[in-house]
Amino acid sequence: MLKRRDFLKSSALTALIPTSDWSDNYLANTDKSVTEPKRQLSIVQETDVIVCGGGPAGIGAALSAARSGAKTTLIEVHGCLGGVWTASLLSNIIDHEGKTGIMKEIIDRLDATDAQYTAKKYDAELMKWTLEQMCKEAGVEVRLHTRVTAAYKDKNNKIDYIATESFSGREAWKAKVFIDTTGNGELAARADCGFDMGEPQTGKVQPMSLMVILSGLNEDDLVKAGYIKGYGKDGSPSETGKKKLHAEILKIGIDASYTMPSFFSIRPDMVALMVNHQYGVLASDAAAISQATIEARNEVNKIIDGLRKLGGIWSKVRIVTTAAQIGIREGRRIHGLYSLTKEDLMRGAKFEDGVCTVNFVVDVHSLVKGEGGGYGNNGVIMKPYQIPLRSLIAKDVNNLMMAGRCISGDFYAHASYRVTGNAVPMGEAAGKIAAKAALTMRLPKEIKWNEV
Ligand SMILES: Cc1cc2nc3c(=O)[nH]c(=O)nc-3n(C[C@H](O)[C@H](O)[C@H](O)COP(=O)(O)OP(=O)(O)OC[C@H]3O[C@@H](n4cnc5c(N)ncnc54)[C@H](O)[C@@H]3O)c2cc1C
Repeated sequence: MLKRRDFLKSSALTALIPTSDWSDNYLANTDKSVTEPKRQLSIVQETDVIVCGGGPAGIGAALSAARSGAKTTLIEVHGCLGGVWTASLLSNIIDHEGKTGIMKEIIDRLDATDAQYTAKKYDAELMKWTLEQMCKEAGVEVRLHTRVTAAYKDKNNKIDYIATESFSGREAWKAKVFIDTTGNGELAARADCGFDMGEPQTGKVQPMSLMVILSGLNEDDLVKAGYIKGYGKDGSPSETGKKKLHAEILKIGIDASYTMPSFFSIRPDMVALMVNHQYGVLASDAAAISQATIEARNEVNKIIDGLRKLGGIWSKVRIVTTAAQIGIREGRRIHGLYSLTKEDLMRGAKFEDGVCTVNFVVDVHSLVKGEGGGYGNNGVIMKPYQIPLRSLIAKDVNNLMMAGRCISGDFYAHASYRVTGNAVPMGEAAGKIAAKAALTMRLPKEIKWNEV
């Protein structure tokens, strides 16, 4: 078994398979370890489908599994549903246009509750409420504040039960089918699935960003100064506006770690801002993520304090809140029955079992600041392509599916399909298949896409 410190040093982070006793702390200190005593765990639930992770993909999965008639539980570590949408304050939905099903339903619900200021921007607080209500109406059992920490398999190479840690201590949960929607492939890694992470040549991952919500800025001023394209539904940042904002921040003596800082207008008097990049942080390294969060919050505060002192349109700007969870762009890509490749993107691949059409470009944020600190497609030009169901079915464990950014694909494919307008339909497809499998006592790979 490759040890974690070798893993971190490794330049090509490919197919590094931890064991079920895998623990970050244990592997970080391989010379020093303790043996946990055995203990009995109470089984809190035996159900049809358990969805681990309540982000955009998890919401799609849980809603569709429950609506397909399966008893469904959604387990989420944060105190709200939505993942990067809410705990990370994203505020901007990409590639939802033309999508039907649950993605469209969420957009319509947001519109109806005034949570959506524009076609793509939303108020993260109202998103939390909307998602909770949708899950409640569909009969999804939601467990918040609960982290999935282990998976134990039976002799048929199926996950028999998972373990969680929460306010109630350590608990066990059984299901017929599990879906990993943790973004970082946490459940699959605990269940010994193979995975890839980072760029193949260097192992480097896309940077993390801490989103921030600001008050005290006037939409009118931002439009006139060119930071955002226009009013209401046009409240996206313009390319020239991003460069202008970076130059403005340079005036206060800070070279922002993200060189294309972007405002997203979410109300006439409220904007979301993405202004930092934390480079070289692996989604499996808790200490590095902690450090990155503290550094990011420091940078963001210094930038906003500095801008306020410049006066003018900035004179009243204040941070309302920074995200509780730093935004993680890239984690494990779990091995599935099919791995999407950049060649698939370039030829606009269509599949018999295609579950979602992706229209979003390859979007790789600089892996190191020296690459410019912005983003680009690294020469990979995609045509609209489909994600096959097989990329959502784990190769190494029989009753496990994935949806969202942890599905099976290469570095460039991930850089395109990872956005939330695709995470939801992937989840919706996984939920349907998982429900069918659970209710008919079959494995996900035995269900044909046209059956659902
Ligand atoms: C800074 C940043 C900017 C981005 N910009 C955009 C954008 O403008 N528009 C867009 O559409 N997309 C954007 N993306 C991409 C998009 O947000 C993600 O790829 C998307 O959220 C993926 O959805 P997901 O459900 O797979 O993962 P996530 O949103 O990460 O959700 C995973 C969920 O699982 C939970 N979880 C994790 N581990 C566990 C565990 N062990 N136990 C229980 N729960 C767990 C998490 O708390 C989270 O709620 C951006 C991403 C980042 C980081």
